[in-house]
Amino acid sequence: MRLKKLTIFGFKSFADKISIDFDCDVISIVGPNGCGKSNIVDAFRWVLGEQSARSIRGERMEDILYAGGSSRKPLNMAEVSLTLTDIEGELPIAYNEVTITRRFHRNGESEYLINREQVRLKDIHDLFLGSGLGKNAFSLFEQGKLDQLIQLHPNDRRTIFDEAAGIGRFLVKKKETVKKLSQVADNYARAHDSYSEVEKQLKHLRRQALQAKNYQETQHALILLEKTALFKKWKRGDTEIQNLSEKLTLLFFLQVFLFHPAVLSLFQSALF
Ligand code: ATP
Repeated sequence: MRLKKLTIFGFKSFADKISIDFDCDVISIVGPNGCGKSNIVDAFRWVLGEQSARSIRGERMEDILYAGGSSRKPLNMAEVSLTLTDIEGELPIAYNEVTITRRFHRNGESEYLINREQVRLKDIHDLFLGSGLGKNAFSLFEQGKLDQLIQLHPNDRRTIFDEAAGIGRFLVKKKETVKKLSQVADNYARAHDSYSEVEKQLKHLRRQALQAKNYQETQHALILLEKTALFKKWKRGDTEIQNLSEKLTLLFFLQVFLFHPAVLSLFQSALF
């Protein structure tokens, strides 16, 4: 992988578009104090996705916009593009050359592009993960960086060696996977809680359903018994009515018979 070109426009002291071609193995940029040499290093760091304004010697991100001069107005947009070549097998992209671009507008909007295609900041980070070229990698050594490296906490220094050894990508992936696993474990715990709660309610509902079923069966049996009782009552009443009507018929015949003039005269003649 080789650095090919850096294009800067509107970034810090670069009001005009400049392009630096890195067409030799060693390139030196020489200039007087304050001419903007470190601004070039800042442009490298920035285009690689740096989010901290302090890391590029600013207070706020707006500080990277060309602030204007005695004869020039400030600019409202900054753009830096970095072209890398011979990247086949070095970066996870199906080209031999890649250009990453970062734009920043004074209204705070940011744009990231890979080969002119709009992407997310994460895509830029993912592209350089483990390549030794990310914004956190130590491929950029600005003034004071060596001192900083020596004074780093051993854990932070380890991160640099991990990145240089090319395992940074896997460590980041591992971190993401562990995070996802922990989210899955949380979701599982929540689902388990809901399941226990539903199971508790289910037990209660099952008991209620059994009670309702028992009630229904008892109710059916009761209705059946009531019907049987009514039927028996009705049957008894019917028999009584029949008996009474038989008795009435008998009485009627007896009356007709006893009070018949022939029978009466027979009684009379028998008596007197
Ligand atoms: P030294 O050799 O002293 O480290 P240098 O060449 O690295 O200097 P830089 O620190 O890169 O210089 O650049 C500093 C210059 O950039 C200053 O003149 C400063 O005014 C200018 N500068 C920084 N930010 C902006 C900006 N937003 N707009 C215009 N000019 C800026």
